[in-house]
Amino acid sequence: MSLPPLVEPAAELTVDEVRRYSRHLIIPDVGMAGQKRLKNAKVLCVGAGGLGSPALMYLAAAGVGTLGIVEFDTVDESNLQRQIIHGQSDIGRSKGESARDSVQEINPYVNVILHDERLDNDNVMEIFAGYDLIVDGTDNFATRYLVNDAAVLLGKPYVWGSIYRFDGQASVFWAEHGPCYRCLYPEAPPPGMVPSCAEGGVLGVLCASIGSIQVTEAIKLLAGIGEPLVGRLMIYDALEMNYRQVKVRKDPDCALCGENPTVTGLIDYEAFCGAISEEAQEAAMGSTITPRALKEMLDNDEKIFLIDVREPGEYEIVNIPGATLIPKNEFLMGDALERMPQDRKIVLHCKTGVRSAEVLAVLKAAGFSDAVHVGSGVVGWVNQIEPHKPVY
Ligand SMILES: [Zn+2]
Repeated sequence: MSLPPLVEPAAELTVDEVRRYSRHLIIPDVGMAGQKRLKNAKVLCVGAGGLGSPALMYLAAAGVGTLGIVEFDTVDESNLQRQIIHGQSDIGRSKGESARDSVQEINPYVNVILHDERLDNDNVMEIFAGYDLIVDGTDNFATRYLVNDAAVLLGKPYVWGSIYRFDGQASVFWAEHGPCYRCLYPEAPPPGMVPSCAEGGVLGVLCASIGSIQVTEAIKLLAGIGEPLVGRLMIYDALEMNYRQVKVRKDPDCALCGENPTVTGLIDYEAFCGAISEEAQEAAMGSTITPRALKEMLDNDEKIFLIDVREPGEYEIVNIPGATLIPKNEFLMGDALERMPQDRKIVLHCKTGVRSAEVLAVLKAAGFSDAVHVGSGVVGWVNQIEPHKPVY
């Protein structure tokens, strides 16, 4: 299936632009017309992180005339392993501003529009309306469904990518010509089932592999060349070094783009995806302590058993003094429960409080009613108590 170009050509290229884009211009499929279409194109990149970095840099270099960036975060040292649009001197800066400066350095002819805000139900339609195509560089399910739904409601193509450890996926969702993200994933995975890159890690260069597929697809759609990745899911395995693709069909029962849609406007995406499971939420209620409270317990020599439920590799990076490592799965599948002391208060922690809340639910169900967890995890501990230690 080939599709007509998404964008009309700009009136002309300047002499400087002709020089800059000459390697594009001499490709017959792109040519002057294709490059003029790129010049006239308005592309929005949601996020200037792992996928957003290569996406923005190559879209800029390719001569996409207007690039929008939605980003509210600041550059952290732990971003630099993969978010190559930012550098050492950008640490602590606004990610959006840092990305904008890099884009202008790569190509001063690009008009950058910065949306320095978190994408939400109140702003998404207005922001998206100004663009021809949306490139998604988000790393959480709530935002992905929000981006998908807004793109479908506005009839815009949505170039999606996702990365985790050594695995990546990419596709183009465009309800007018094929499936949407909900056709592929009708429901968000249960909270805690699919770890984020912050929890599970990601090979930095994987961002380039998937980000470059996204940019390639964006350029093809804008210029109307080649076979778009509509209705196909590209799956990349970096360890095996193979790409395979599976067909994705439009689901006639899709809640959003199906024959009898039940979702006809934006919904509550946090609730739809659930930040943490209901059981974990319930367990954590009234049983969540701060890093400072933990510090006091330790300083007062209170009889507690402090358990770190992360993975050994994470424990090696940074840990709270006195914590015993018992990974979450040993509570879910193993015999960790039998090893719990009865004479001491159990205090759990993980990286940011998601996994520890899940284990807390297991402990409470087993009768350890006074167990608590550190809501902000080891990250909160380092920030508030031991700031000289690294976070990841
Ligand atoms: Zn759909």
